Amino acid sequence: MDNKNLDFLSKISDILTHDIDTLGLSDELKSTLSTFIGIKNLKLYIYDNITNTMRDCLDSWCIIEEDEELYKAFENIKEHDFIINSKAYKLPATISDITLKINSLYMPILKNEKVFGLIELSFEENTAVNMEFLFLMKIVASQVSLKLQNIVLNEQSKINVEFHDSMKNIAKIIETQYELNYIVPIIGEMLDRFITDHLIYVFLKQDNEFKLVWPKACKDERIYDILTQLTPETEYLLTNNDKIGAFPLISEEGEITGCIVARSTLDVLSKRDISYLEQLTRQSAITINRANSYSKILQYATIDALTNLNNRRQFELRLGQEIATTKRQKNSLCAMMIDIDFFKKVNDTYGHASGDAVLRGVASIIKSALRESDIPSRYGGEEFAILLPYTHIQEAQIVGERLRKAVEASPIPINDENSDVKSINVTISMGLAEFNNKETGEELFERADKALYEAKESGRNRICVNND
Ligand code: GH3
Ligand code: MG
Ligand code: MG
Repeated sequence: MDNKNLDFLSKISDILTHDIDTLGLSDELKSTLSTFIGIKNLKLYIYDNITNTMRDCLDSWCIIEEDEELYKAFENIKEHDFIINSKAYKLPATISDITLKINSLYMPILKNEKVFGLIELSFEENTAVNMEFLFLMKIVASQVSLKLQNIVLNEQSKINVEFHDSMKNIAKIIETQYELNYIVPIIGEMLDRFITDHLIYVFLKQDNEFKLVWPKACKDERIYDILTQLTPETEYLLTNNDKIGAFPLISEEGEITGCIVARSTLDVLSKRDISYLEQLTRQSAITINRANSYSKILQYATIDALTNLNNRRQFELRLGQEIATTKRQKNSLCAMMIDIDFFKKVNDTYGHASGDAVLRGVASIIKSALRESDIPSRYGGEEFAILLPYTHIQEAQIVGERLRKAVEASPIPINDENSDVKSINVTISMGLAEFNNKETGEELFERADKALYEAKESGRNRICVNND
């Protein structure tokens, strides 16, 4: 073998020792081949025996539906070494000095001597190759096959790891949370992140009707159609050429409480997808069922389990009492609404557990910055409502400013498994209103909320007062 060929083969070997994905692999192969011989393009296809189709593994594993030449090449190559210019070709036993004009070349990707894909090469016009080149390419093809098997295996095991992470995360949500409005979108997000090839919809049954809770909209009428066909005995339903799958959420009492729907725009749901979705649905049902029973128990609680502040129900109760007392005693009373700034970003960057830690942290700063007589509550999500009895608006502003500064200045410890970040800083926006003796408690807080909105609009990390 001459130096040029040896050099070429050693470059190819180099590529294959690197840790790369299919895209990187094809780029490197293409550029090495181009310097060796004039090629126009290189593509990699893998056969999917579940759907009986060829997939372009450089283009998100897209199914190749109409490419007769590709499918014919795949069939014909089984008994041969190459397909050259659409003709099957077997290498002779020894190298002769024939040369060939070549436009296109298919080489098999092999696994245990079976063809499981194709490498497609197209050449510059009038490229001539000799026998030696074809022998070289046979070596290249078998090396690339090994590498591709490796990559495909790795991707599959990565999916398995991600699957187990998703299952674990869905199970974990419940530790601190029980509000379905909060839990279900998180489950939806997790499923969506894991099942990347399909659109995910989550429905909950409320008042005997399926209500979409994730994502915000579903315009596909067929999906609503399928939902009406579900019974508690349904394991799952596939329709529309297996492109839509419905997986009912079943309660402990055996009733349908909701449904997870996966819809694909191009691919059918594979057996593997279905198995993943079945397991994820079962885990989601467990989490949702536990949240439901938890919230029943908590109907009688007065304290929010995450922050240890008053819960929403207790807030409404105390508001009524304080309004009555303030009117009777002709005292002053202020309302304070607080919302954490850019809190969604905290969840998205550090995970929901860290978001929860921040909620707890902010709640504890609120408690320590307030006076004994003030009444703080968790209003919902990342919003806090505080009653300040015996307080005029000027004092409320001083209290509020002290609180705002305290939050801004306090790093809050979080526990992010995936990074070195140990604590983060957040800011809050605040709306204030003083009771005018004529309004209801609800109206008072509506005004505080309006001021909060203004604080957000005018830049966040600030206090606005409503003087209506
Ligand atoms: P803004 O500055 O406008 O307030 O932006 P934001 O991101 O704080 O506001 P948005 O209302 O868009 O996001 C609030 C987020 O709070 C969305 C929701 O998932 C999250 N959230 C609500 N309740 C909880 C909870 O109990 N725990 C955690 N970790 N997140 C929660
Ligand atoms: Mg908010
Ligand atoms: Mg917010």
